Amino acid sequence: MSKDSQSTLLERYLRLNEISLDLTSTLDIKTLLNRIGHAAADLCNAQAASILLYDENKQQLHFESTTNLDEPLMRGLIVPVDSSIAGWIVLNREPVIIDDTQKDARHYSKIAKFTNVTTNSMLGVPLIAKGKVIGVLEVINRIEGNFSEDDTDVLMALGSQAAVAIENARLFHQSDLIAELVHELRTPLSSLNTAAHLLTRADLSSKRQEQVIAAIQTETTRLTEMTSAFLDVSRLESGRTQFNTEIIDLVPLLEECASLVSGKVDEKGLDWRMEIQDNLPQIAADKDKIKQVLLNLLSNAIKYNRPDGNIMMSVIVEGNDIIITIRDTGMGISEVYMEHLFEKFYRVETAEKQAPGSGLGLAISQRIVEAHNGRIDVHSEVGVGTTFRVYLPIMLPELYSND
Ligand code: ADP
Repeated sequence: MSKDSQSTLLERYLRLNEISLDLTSTLDIKTLLNRIGHAAADLCNAQAASILLYDENKQQLHFESTTNLDEPLMRGLIVPVDSSIAGWIVLNREPVIIDDTQKDARHYSKIAKFTNVTTNSMLGVPLIAKGKVIGVLEVINRIEGNFSEDDTDVLMALGSQAAVAIENARLFHQSDLIAELVHELRTPLSSLNTAAHLLTRADLSSKRQEQVIAAIQTETTRLTEMTSAFLDVSRLESGRTQFNTEIIDLVPLLEECASLVSGKVDEKGLDWRMEIQDNLPQIAADKDKIKQVLLNLLSNAIKYNRPDGNIMMSVIVEGNDIIITIRDTGMGISEVYMEHLFEKFYRVETAEKQAPGSGLGLAISQRIVEAHNGRIDVHSEVGVGTTFRVYLPIMLPELYSND
């Protein structure tokens, strides 16, 4: 090795050292992945870098972070393990250098169609934490020349630091969330405990017994809902949620949601209205996730409504957004609570008296909508009602067409 290349190599390792220190300073997964990507492109003199995370159960890789693509575009991109270069890296746990991916049989060309980015040269390394492959770090299109063994060594070193940092951030999140969950589980668990004690009393009237059993059923339903909502939030926060983005028509989805809540709407004697603008454009979104958001908002609009009140769902196009509005005539939310509404487990004091809930619905909804590059806003007047608006960007369907 020449003295010159030795000193640049040394410089790169010094830079890597700095980056590694920087990586340990954040536990926010998104920020972390973003930093890893930029560091990788920078260290290897590449045009762009991507991080794909591996889902062992589904045998799929999905793009989790890229330095050159927008998040909503990248979200839907799934790469099969058995027919892609990244998949080969996962299965063989080895780095790969390719000078011309177009000539490589393993190249998964569908992505280029989605992104309009052509990959010429490429270097990819496995991300391995605690002996398990958790993903792949790739750099594409070297700015000068081809990727070298030195590039591989540096990227492998970055990859091993990055994998540990990703794993730590995930674990930290889990323990943080678990502490919150444990706290929230205390109340229903102690109610169950009290109920169980009551049932052992011989002098309990049969009417009282029925009430206690009904209370047990309510609490267990609530526990079940809370744990599944908790899993959703924890997956969303740790970047383990997969978004199956496709081109969808909103109208059938809105109608399906309306029919799913119609029983509860009738039960509460609510007046239901739906207004959908004609000729709505299609959007690129994960249908099930958007359905989850709408059902959350509708269920709140029902739960926190007054008996014989109204619910209105409307959809319009404004600029580059589709806006779905859900308005109720319920108890409303005082200004002082507004800034906390989307926090995990947050419930307004008065809500507890009106209806059961986990305080996770809005947190989940907001994260899902933001993952679609949208936003949710809320306006409310105490005693009059609340309006939630979901803004979803209209993305160019051509980007997602399969042909
Ligand atoms: P929950 O399971 O408690 O309904 P959410 O996260 O869906 O949890 O909502 C958080 C809190 O926001 C609720 O507990 C309630 O206090 C308030 N809230 C949400 N939607 C409405 C609404 N339509 N009207 C009044 N209050 C609402």
